[in-house]
Amino acid sequence: MLTQQQMELMTEAVARIREEIARAAIQAGRRPEEIQLCAACKTRTVEEVRFSAGLDIDVFGENHVQELVEKTDAGAYLGKPGHFIGHLQTNKVNKVVGRAALIHSVDSLRLMQKIHAAAQRQNLVQDILLEVNIGGEESKSGVTPENLWSLLEEAGNMPNIRVRGLMAIPPAEAAPEETLNYFARMRELQEQARAADLKNTSMDVLSMGMSQDYAAAISQGATMVRIGTAIYGPRDYSQKGI
Ligand SMILES: *Cc1c(COP(=O)(O)O)cnc(C)c1O
Repeated sequence: MLTQQQMELMTEAVARIREEIARAAIQAGRRPEEIQLCAACKTRTVEEVRFSAGLDIDVFGENHVQELVEKTDAGAYLGKPGHFIGHLQTNKVNKVVGRAALIHSVDSLRLMQKIHAAAQRQNLVQDILLEVNIGGEESKSGVTPENLWSLLEEAGNMPNIRVRGLMAIPPAEAAPEETLNYFARMRELQEQARAADLKNTSMDVLSMGMSQDYAAAISQGATMVRIGTAIYGPRDYSQKGI
């Protein structure tokens, strides 16, 4: 059961985040409506997510296929779109294609091919983002900026996917100025890819910025911020065993 206090905290948190989004947008000479709020709701219950769906949140982002399936089947997003933002294993692609309005985390040709094949079978066009390992971290998913171009070219042969843009998670330990630079580099990559005007590619989405750094991401051109902790509070991983 959600307590009255939890509901009040969430309501205030989303209002505060929206104000901060608007402030950061206006400061950067942008319109607040250009930025979508994606609630990163891994480990949150159906009840928490359903309550938050009544607030000023645009989309819900899941990291685990099972949670995406469970929460969409339960109608937890109240008809708002669900996105997949976590690492996607190729053997789970079938459950995500057609269910997630946008897959943020495509970072290999093999994964893109699997998504394309599943989208073809379902006779739909799946929107995806390519995830860039902008900090060059060994342990992180994402393609290198160099390999991004070959993936974009391959996408030109896949009519059942549409590359809507790019996603990144800068290194967690980076100093604020460094993080700002990573966001700026992402914006440059997006601009270059957009200018190349490639097939099956629109490049209108730039998914970057989390609870700690979303204002910085917006200052550099983010069109979608993915926020978890600042909406729902600290995560309790012991609850779900993930
Ligand atoms: C968890 C998560 C977020 C949100 O992180 P917070 O720090 O809780 O805001 C954003 N993006 C991805 C891919 C995540 O896994």
